[in-house]
Amino acid sequence: MTQAAPIVSEPDVVRDGAALEVLHRVFGYPAFRGYQAEIIAELLAGRDALVLMPTGGGKSLCYQVPALVRDGVGVVISPLIALMQDQVDALRALGVRAGFLNSTQDAGQRQQVERAFLAGELDLLYLAPERLRVESTAQLLDRGTIALFAIDEAHCVAQWGHDFRPDYLALSTIHERWPEVPRIALTATATDATRAEIATRLNLTEARHFVASFDRPNIAYRIVGKDQPRQQLMDLIHAEHAGDAGIVYCLSRSSVEATAEFLNAHGIPALPYHAGLDARVRAANQSRFLREEGVVMVATIAFGMGIDKPDVRFVAHLDLPKSVEGYYQETGRAGRDGLPSTAWLAYGLADVVQQRKMIETSDGDAAHRRRLGSHLDAMLALCETVECRRSQLLAYFGEPGGPCGNCDTCLVPAESWDGTVAAQKVLSAVFRLDRERRQRFGAGHVVDILLGKHTAKVDQFGHHALSVFGIGTELRDGEWRGVVRQLLAQGLLSVEGDHGTLGLTNHSAAVLYRGREVRFRREPERTRSASRTSGSKRPAVDLPQEAVGVFERLRAWRAATAAEQGIPAYVVFHDATLRQIAILNPGDLQGLGRVSGVGENKLAKYGEQILATLHSG
Ligand code: ADP
Ligand code: ZN
Repeated sequence: MTQAAPIVSEPDVVRDGAALEVLHRVFGYPAFRGYQAEIIAELLAGRDALVLMPTGGGKSLCYQVPALVRDGVGVVISPLIALMQDQVDALRALGVRAGFLNSTQDAGQRQQVERAFLAGELDLLYLAPERLRVESTAQLLDRGTIALFAIDEAHCVAQWGHDFRPDYLALSTIHERWPEVPRIALTATATDATRAEIATRLNLTEARHFVASFDRPNIAYRIVGKDQPRQQLMDLIHAEHAGDAGIVYCLSRSSVEATAEFLNAHGIPALPYHAGLDARVRAANQSRFLREEGVVMVATIAFGMGIDKPDVRFVAHLDLPKSVEGYYQETGRAGRDGLPSTAWLAYGLADVVQQRKMIETSDGDAAHRRRLGSHLDAMLALCETVECRRSQLLAYFGEPGGPCGNCDTCLVPAESWDGTVAAQKVLSAVFRLDRERRQRFGAGHVVDILLGKHTAKVDQFGHHALSVFGIGTELRDGEWRGVVRQLLAQGLLSVEGDHGTLGLTNHSAAVLYRGREVRFRREPERTRSASRTSGSKRPAVDLPQEAVGVFERLRAWRAATAAEQGIPAYVVFHDATLRQIAILNPGDLQGLGRVSGVGENKLAKYGEQILATLHSG
């Protein structure tokens, strides 16, 4: 596999020049970002690379550019069959000769791609991983020249991850069959454990690792108390994201459906996506989300991997994600274009109860349940923190950092309070109820007892006679629920059985009898205009006054062009590119060609139309 490692030699410099030339000419970008240049140099030298970059970090260029510079075809292995057509369309719009082979094609279509491959008429070939296990595909590859293998979404090889694909395990043999061809594995999953597993399972032992910062500074993180989640979501959209594309994640299929209906009924165009829908409906909804502007996709986590729509302006979670990794991947789908975006999560007591219960009753051995439990604990700690959300997220991925100034706790500092006495009251109520073991008492009942409410259940069981009855009038109902939630989050209470019965844990006694201090996050007063100081405008339209009209004309031109060609608007040009055109207002093709994102092919294809659009004002 390894050629002699060239230090800085003449050919390297020449090849570097070639990479930069491709970046300028084909993609229209002025410079490489982050580790891109180093990664590309590694592949150009014939060596392997393992790349961890957050979503939107610019992974695709890391294999697309060297595939164009090196002899032969870059073979990209991706599990995202439903997106291959779009990826290929986007490359063709740049003048790159791309094709794919997967199960959605008929024999005729496949043959056409195979012929193009053998004739040397392809720069990039996308393959579903299962294709590579078919001997005829391997033989086809044997007959052509391969520039490199790119293994996208490489975390799919991780056996405990939620995206595990058995077909990925077989990719370890690529190296045996094509030892001369450099390989690059890429993922946006950040943990060291996953990285190590990728390296071993894909047999990438000699690959250099490139781990980029996982910070996504343009995403504002917010986690709010859950009250009426659909209404809260709608308030968010109306206040800050009217007309924007967004993704809303829900845990269950039924809440996906109900939420999509709710949004539609309130004039927000929304589509459902979950594994229970017919494959054709899913594909149609995904296609509309990608092609139309301002559509909200309401989905389970079945949706989103590989979605490279750059202008998703918000990602909202109506239910608690099961892990920080999941949360980070999902929220990362916002703002790939680098423009300001929102990650918003509504979270409440019922979420904690439900997730703890799900773990309790899940299949698998004790070790598996412990692993699920520690994932959940990390997620809960993020929700309950009074520190900067972003620095806590990054710390989880092993990256140091200070307060970010762009998350809810930075913008509206959260306070903590000494909740030792409140905790003792809850724990002692649970302790007393626990003696009546045959009965099931959830959080609501415990709070009623502390508040001294004579509910039917309280009367039925004679709980007004308990010594804890009515000892908690200093807090309101919602505040007590917050206390119970945080006790659950901190592992000082447990949930048992199907009914969410509260119980004590090994750690409860220290609080109850030895007065171990407990601190809680203060529940902020809920106001409609919660944490945004100014009614922020849509970022894409955040332009100098004189450029706004031009930008809107360009957008209208783009929408018409995209519709005519049946491609998403962002494949024509990104918002960021249109913004820059609107601001610079170039007078000729040469000036237009200098705008970031305007490459040779698009300049030739759209240049005159853009200039005409600019002059039409
Ligand atoms: P990832 O696959 O890591 O999520 P992408 O490859 O889709 O990210 O890149 C994210 C966005 O950044 C894309 O819109 C891409 O065109 C843009 N981009 C990538 N590299 C550069 C660069 N060097 N200069 C300008 N834009 C870039
Ligand atoms: Zn912050």
